[in-house]
Amino acid sequence: MAYLDHAATTPMLPEAVQELTAQLTVTGNASSLHGSGRRARRTVEEARERLAGALGARPSEVVFTSGGTEADNLAVKGLFWSRRAADPRRTRVLASPVEHHAVLDAVRWLADHEGARVEWLPVDGVGRVRPDALREAVARDPQDVALATVMWANNEIGTLQPVHELAEVAAEAGIPLHSDAVQALGQCEVDFAASRLAAMAVSGHKAGGPYGVGALVLGREHSPEPLLHGGGQERDVRSGTLDVPAVAAFAVAAELAAARRAAFARGVGALRDALVAAVLAAVPDAVLGGDPDPAGRLPANAHFAFPGCEGDSLLLLLDAQGIECSTGSACTAGIAQPSHVVLATGADPDLARGTLRFSLGHTSTEADVADVAGAIGPAVERARSAGLT
Ligand code: PLP
Repeated sequence: MAYLDHAATTPMLPEAVQELTAQLTVTGNASSLHGSGRRARRTVEEARERLAGALGARPSEVVFTSGGTEADNLAVKGLFWSRRAADPRRTRVLASPVEHHAVLDAVRWLADHEGARVEWLPVDGVGRVRPDALREAVARDPQDVALATVMWANNEIGTLQPVHELAEVAAEAGIPLHSDAVQALGQCEVDFAASRLAAMAVSGHKAGGPYGVGALVLGREHSPEPLLHGGGQERDVRSGTLDVPAVAAFAVAAELAAARRAAFARGVGALRDALVAAVLAAVPDAVLGGDPDPAGRLPANAHFAFPGCEGDSLLLLLDAQGIECSTGSACTAGIAQPSHVVLATGADPDLARGTLRFSLGHTSTEADVADVAGAIGPAVERARSAGLT
């Protein structure tokens, strides 16, 4: 089997599995005052330090959540609410149109239910937001912006955003910029302090840690309105008893992912380049999505559009050959919809319906690439003969 869907979830690192299983047999609520509680608290605070170290953040900036989705929602909704509470003019939200649904739908929800005025920042043909586009949007009225949100790395087409430049523009105008770094952790150098971001989301299961745990890295000067009310854990921003084993295992994985990042990018980047070359050799009219310059995209991402094919049909044909990948498009009422990301880059909607994402990871091998090289040509031929519906 060739598992090429690491961007959906990647296998846990053995060291993280070891940490998780060791912690599962330990009892203690990190908020309890007795010895067991204090031991659990110590484990959590050590994990916070390790995660902060891996992300270039201070431990006090790490707010543990149930994953990337919650971290994104907390940043987008929470910052909107708190900024608007401080000044009712602040109802404008600046967002890239290529965001993951965890951000995209949170922004849309604010528009539908909270009176947010959303401005989608223009992107170029590889899905990148120019810092000038943010500067122009801010300049229209810096006083009415609640927040801006632009992801660090795109989960579908792999495009990296100029996060540092964007954060500079936002910081100069006194506007908080949130960035979804879920796909960036372990693949790009992620340094929260150097970035000047206000907030940044990361997730455990995308970086070799467990499911159901993540973090919002949040500058100390920001106090988003919480989504969850309760015991006041995590700076009063995210109530709920902490999942000590998950938090500890996430920190182990994040630390290793950050430490191995350069070697990962080299090794997996070479495999990805071989995969791209093999697919383009087998299907010469396939169109590589995202930035053709490897420096501008995630090293583990390869994204293609196959003219005349349905992405879903191709995915299932490859699955039957033991190759697992993703389309990136959503299905609405049983009809495949082109991906919002691919459409935002200006692609033709028919072409956008025939996309596949291969995402590699720490368990990927040359044999995986060889499997794709052998299977993609015949699969595309069959999908084309089935035709677009
Ligand atoms: N943001 C991005 C860019 C993602 O790729 C994902 C997962 O697909 C998420 C957010 C959501 O993260 P989680 O699965 O931890 O909720």
